[in-house]
Amino acid sequence: MSKNFYKDGLRFECQGSGKCCTSRGSYGFVYLTLKDRKRMARVLGLNTSVFTRKYCSKTDGHFHLKETSGDCRFLNLNRCEIYEGRPDQCRTWPFWPENMNSKTWNQEVKSYCPGIGKGKLFTKEEIEAQLRESEI
Ligand code: SF4
Repeated sequence: MSKNFYKDGLRFECQGSGKCCTSRGSYGFVYLTLKDRKRMARVLGLNTSVFTRKYCSKTDGHFHLKETSGDCRFLNLNRCEIYEGRPDQCRTWPFWPENMNSKTWNQEVKSYCPGIGKGKLFTKEEIEAQLRESEI
């Protein structure tokens, strides 16, 4: 991660493309904290243990959504069906530690996500707050 590259902030505004909800190799898992699982379960009207059994798997000690065919199972016509309860990983896109170097940002993230460079200017401090939120 290179802090210098975002010292003047970065612009991002979701364009509703649904692309960050589509599996792409190493970004495939949607990791879930207990807080995420409780919030998602509430939105779906389930208790947390039922939600976890039905929708989650565990890898290396971390819960994540069970893999489906590629896209997130809650993505429907480019919309998140549980948007108000979406997990922190989804709330903090694109400010993930693995994205925060100029090469990845400019070559991969920018070409992938149409919201990069648009809308609100996130300051360095706001970006770092998102990075802390994205940690599981
Ligand atoms: S939970 Fe919602 S926002 Fe997160 S990847 Fe799935 S569809 Fe996208």
